Amino acid sequence: MNVPFNDLAGLHKPLENEIAGAMREVMESCAFIDGPAVRAFERDFATLCGVPAAMGVANGTVAVEMALRALGVGPGDEVICPAMTFIASVEPVVTLGARPVLVDILPGTRNLDPSQLAAASSDRTKAIIAVHLHGNPAPMEEILAFARPRGIKVVEDAAQGHGASLNGRPVGSMGDMAAFSFYPGKNLGAFGDAGAVVSADAALLEEVRPLINHGSRPGRKYYHDLIGFNMRMDTLQAAVLGVKLPHLSDWNRRRREIAAYYNQRLAGVVELPVETPGGYHTYHVYAVQLPRRDQVLQSMQQAGIGVGMHYPVAIHQHQAIASLPHPPQGPFPVAEAMAKQTLSLPMFPNMTDAQAEQVCTALLRAIDAGGGL
Ligand SMILES: *Cc1c(COP(=O)(O)O)cnc(C)c1O
Repeated sequence: MNVPFNDLAGLHKPLENEIAGAMREVMESCAFIDGPAVRAFERDFATLCGVPAAMGVANGTVAVEMALRALGVGPGDEVICPAMTFIASVEPVVTLGARPVLVDILPGTRNLDPSQLAAASSDRTKAIIAVHLHGNPAPMEEILAFARPRGIKVVEDAAQGHGASLNGRPVGSMGDMAAFSFYPGKNLGAFGDAGAVVSADAALLEEVRPLINHGSRPGRKYYHDLIGFNMRMDTLQAAVLGVKLPHLSDWNRRRREIAAYYNQRLAGVVELPVETPGGYHTYHVYAVQLPRRDQVLQSMQQAGIGVGMHYPVAIHQHQAIASLPHPPQGPFPVAEAMAKQTLSLPMFPNMTDAQAEQVCTALLRAIDAGGGL
């Protein structure tokens, strides 16, 4: 039996009628844009994040961009980002005409290494993007301790971290602003593209509203105070997300159960993911590291196990980043090693114990066959 990398059809099956009902309601009300489901989801998602307000947007990349815009990031500014993340953490920095400055990650927890912030910062540093990679909270206390006294803003890229927390504080509530993605495969996923910006500072978050709605402030349709964008969240996506949201904490618990099982079966055989101290890791991705990764990946695929790499290229190694006028200066050895060695195992909340067992058996077999340490 094959084990897929993810199984969204199986996840949605028990919610089928409820989701169809929510979508039908949107169809019948015709409130396709800015409908009540968007407002309801924003309210409930804010509660999850422990913040006063959330704002639905078109996708997670836009969420990062709008957070940076609301904080005033623009040409001439520098923004510090980790060297290992999805490109969308860094892309908006470049889109805004600012310059991405990279720091390496920590081995094990794989998040931005706060001890490297001092060397990476300058009087042009406007913001730091703290990515909760794979759902593991970034070391926010150290990052904020560096940023706050220097007036540097902190944006949490929580696109992989719905429901994660650090010392009891939900991700999204710690930085100046935070960005979430509801890309279908994320821990909380829509039926298409969607995202959210959240902030503990409700007034700052309100600066995003006109940006995503043609520069119009709420209740001021036809009056455009600034040049904005059309980057709202669709009502249909909000309706789907509203049905799924109440299940997120159970889904995250199950992901952690599978991760604990993987840890126990694979200890001593591969490099395991390490949880940030005090962190509640939500395992959007469960990634191990091992030499001869490519060989093991191929054996796993041949055994019918869905595997992935998050990510096989460090940020400074992408052509798009290396060809910038001021490309970030490496080396970033921890991120580079991770790119070569990382292997993501199947991870989804509806995975059975038998499937998890099968994944481990296949991995141990692939390593025995010559892909091990
Ligand atoms: C998915 C993701 C994004 C972008 O989200 P989209 O909704 O796909 O635009 C940004 N950052 C990280 C770390 C992501 O994983």
